[in-house]
Amino acid sequence: MGVHPRALDYAESLPDGVIPDESELTCGTRIEPGKSYGFFTDTTLCIGCKACEVACKEWNGLPADNLGLTGNSYDNTGDLGANTWRHVAFVEKIGSGDDRAREMKPFQSNWLMMSDVCKHCANAPCLEACPTGSIFRTEFDTVVVQQDICNGCGYCVPACPFGVVELSLEDGKAHKCTLCYDRLKGGLEPACAKSCPTDSIQFGEIEDLFGRARRRVEDLHGKGATDAYLYGAPDTPGATGGLKHLNAFFLLTDRPEVYNLPVAPTRASDRVRPSFLTGLAAMAGLTLAAAALMSAGRERGR
Ligand code: SF4
Ligand code: SF4
Repeated sequence: MGVHPRALDYAESLPDGVIPDESELTCGTRIEPGKSYGFFTDTTLCIGCKACEVACKEWNGLPADNLGLTGNSYDNTGDLGANTWRHVAFVEKIGSGDDRAREMKPFQSNWLMMSDVCKHCANAPCLEACPTGSIFRTEFDTVVVQQDICNGCGYCVPACPFGVVELSLEDGKAHKCTLCYDRLKGGLEPACAKSCPTDSIQFGEIEDLFGRARRRVEDLHGKGATDAYLYGAPDTPGATGGLKHLNAFFLLTDRPEVYNLPVAPTRASDRVRPSFLTGLAAMAGLTLAAAALMSAGRERGR
């Protein structure tokens, strides 16, 4: 991306105040209400520096959480949670015995790294499950929890097919990534994307990001990285079960479950009708069986 002409107006390293529409200068995107924004996370560019995790915690005032080595990986922050809204997974593909990895694929080491986040689903199951209206869709097509309305019922937690949203042990309310709603309103790129030194996390208008991601997949295929594919873009894995697409989608080079992503996520509301019909059928079956037993008992009594 070239330098935006407006950048020449702000040569000083410490400007006097907030630069209007700063995101235009940092990521080439102007942020306007009524348009859809999201993240394209290209895992082939991630170096595991965790700058995104730190920038997220710093901007959102989130405490350190879960720090410690699990024994499964060099990753020391574990997973997403109420206080961790970006989490960089380290997946070490060393294998063992005859299965031990001996060569590296193009454009990927035997360490897969992926910065995970709330997917800001186009059809968000957490939002559908929330009985208080605390979870809402913003003017930027992102999904946010309003802390003053959340009553801590926790319905959103099992509704999320990605295990993103969590109740806080401190205030009992649901917390997750807001896609930096406050920064978007001020014309600023989200903190994680702005801090990523390799542009593994790219912020922008969602249709632009889909186009950019498809071109990146073609480019990687042309260079021999034929495993590269999109997860969560329209008509790709991750955009299943009525989710339409994910506003935070990924470029992956291995199966989704290797990155702790579900192969075919579904909306909880899509399971209500089949579960209801199964329950009705079971009740009808039990009623018929009870009626048959009673009738057989009466026959024997005669
Ligand atoms: S990933 Fe989970 S928490 Fe995020 S919008 Fe989708 S359902 Fe809600
Ligand atoms: S800031 Fe970028 S390169 Fe660093 S861990 Fe996050 S996604 Fe990976």
